[in-house]
Amino acid sequence: MKLLLLLLGLAAAASHAIPVFPDVHEVYANGEDENPLMNLGSDANLIEGDILLPEGRNALIDKRYRWTFPIPYILGDDLDLNAKGCVHQAFEMYRLKSCVDFKPYEGEKTFIKFEKRGGCFSSVGDQQNGQILSLGVGCDHKAVIEHELLHALGFYHEQSRTDRDDYVDIWLDQVIPGMEHNFNKYEDDFITDQNTAYDYESIMHYRPFSFNKNESAPTVTTKISVFNNIIGQYLDFSRMDILRLNRMYNCSGPLTLLDQCAFESDSVCGMIQSTTDDGDWVHTKSRPGVEDHTLLGRCRDAGHFMHFDTSSGPPQASALLESRTLYPRRKSQCLQFFYKMTGDPQDRLVVWLKVDDGTGSVRKMSKIHTFYADSDHSWKIAHVPVASTVKFRYSLQAVRGGATPMAGATPMAGAMPMAGATPMAGVYVDDVTLTETQCPGAVWRIQNFSRVMETADANTYINSPPFYSAEGYAFGVSLRPRSGYRDYTGDYAGLYFHLISGENDAVMDWPAVNRQARLVVMDQDPDVTMRMSTARSLTTDLTTMADGRLLWDDPSKVGTLDPSCSCYRGASWGWSNFVKHFDLRRRSYLKNDDLIVFVDFEDITSLVKTEVPIQPRPV
Ligand SMILES: [Zn+2]
Repeated sequence: MKLLLLLLGLAAAASHAIPVFPDVHEVYANGEDENPLMNLGSDANLIEGDILLPEGRNALIDKRYRWTFPIPYILGDDLDLNAKGCVHQAFEMYRLKSCVDFKPYEGEKTFIKFEKRGGCFSSVGDQQNGQILSLGVGCDHKAVIEHELLHALGFYHEQSRTDRDDYVDIWLDQVIPGMEHNFNKYEDDFITDQNTAYDYESIMHYRPFSFNKNESAPTVTTKISVFNNIIGQYLDFSRMDILRLNRMYNCSGPLTLLDQCAFESDSVCGMIQSTTDDGDWVHTKSRPGVEDHTLLGRCRDAGHFMHFDTSSGPPQASALLESRTLYPRRKSQCLQFFYKMTGDPQDRLVVWLKVDDGTGSVRKMSKIHTFYADSDHSWKIAHVPVASTVKFRYSLQAVRGGATPMAGATPMAGAMPMAGATPMAGVYVDDVTLTETQCPGAVWRIQNFSRVMETADANTYINSPPFYSAEGYAFGVSLRPRSGYRDYTGDYAGLYFHLISGENDAVMDWPAVNRQARLVVMDQDPDVTMRMSTARSLTTDLTTMADGRLLWDDPSKVGTLDPSCSCYRGASWGWSNFVKHFDLRRRSYLKNDDLIVFVDFEDITSLVKTEVPIQPRPV
């Protein structure tokens, strides 16, 4: 079995910083993506900005407008290739967080056809005769497609709720004349809030300056002023969006989440300790100096993790923690967890897989990955691809390597550690998640990011080390911690993708076209269904540069030499408004003060031709 071992880029921020990295471009230089849901230029018959005038009336309460799953879909070939890739990303988020599922259209009576029209818009609810969901310029964005699909599933905007006037002020005198209907509210015999409170964080909420006629005057403000910076977020579904979706469709659980554990309860999610080894993992409560990952940075002295002490005991002493039996639906899974190793460099953490041996008994073992300790004693993220089509358990084995007590920690003579603050030497594990999704192709961790944000200026670029795609292309990202883009919430960080010259370039296809680069800044919430990771994507094509050379050609021909990696970096394309500093500080993006970026670069040529004809209805 060939395993994709993931490169964990550990960047000491300053060492990668170069003063000027000039070849950086904006995907949307004119800001077409800044508030795409307003569709001011669209000629479609829209109400509330991006809702296609419904043919029927009731959508939310009337159960006839609810879908049965999976929802058949067609990706029209007028769509940008990048938008098609983003639709699949949005589908995967629905499957990870709800029971909403999608399937290619095969002549069903009702379906969603994605087309590129003027703007991003959708009807509300299942119209029962096939309906259009438009993804125009600037709509090729995971969160925007999630928003439009929530309309299609039967949801209106948050600020059109019956009780909205208790939570927001709508300044109709500041609205562009003729656009006032975008701020309609609905009576409670028409829409239902699913017995949930008003949610400022909903992905269905307008931004403060939506449909404003005066650049400096908002049209929507929140009664509690701190939420002015939150309304209109395009990160991902909020906790409440997911709760309502799952209530409306009676979901019993997400489709692609198999298991997760933050080790907060004594039952440790049904995990069991092996009785045949010599040691046990210990379910441990955080204390100052020995914090868990789940609640890191939130409150002191709270939260639990699993710990195996390696400071004493015989060499090779080990403890095995085994998951409950899991039943996969797909062919591949991704095991993600946070770990920390503070003992001897020979200490190790081994991930095992135990599968059904064909008789119904889960006992056939295989070792899938080994992590070793190093001098970095902080929490790190791990991804281990798993490929099981039969029922299985995964196990985490901690092994004591060295024979000398505390060999990894060598305190200077006389420097006694403070009592109560001595980290326990050993192997730590927390926040385990097993999903039936693809592991990220590249993971880049930037440490001490709060300080990086404070000290950076618009000319500060941090380049990632080179990563390799599954096909063999080398690529990297450039991070601008303070990109120069600003709005009423403050500064933004920018993120940009580029190709890098690599060891396989002689055999790769050039230019590298029809590949989608997916950039994600990870929300490190322990519950994967609550994470609001922010993502943007671009797809490579035959674009030429000013000098006529192909943009996505071999970087050793069209790129610039970067002495820090002795490699050539191609031009970078991305977004100066990738993520708000306000959001980075607010949610769990900077746990342990690490910024974690996932990057994938994947061939999506299979999506070039996707449109299928709509079959005539039987009379
Ligand atoms: Zn909308």
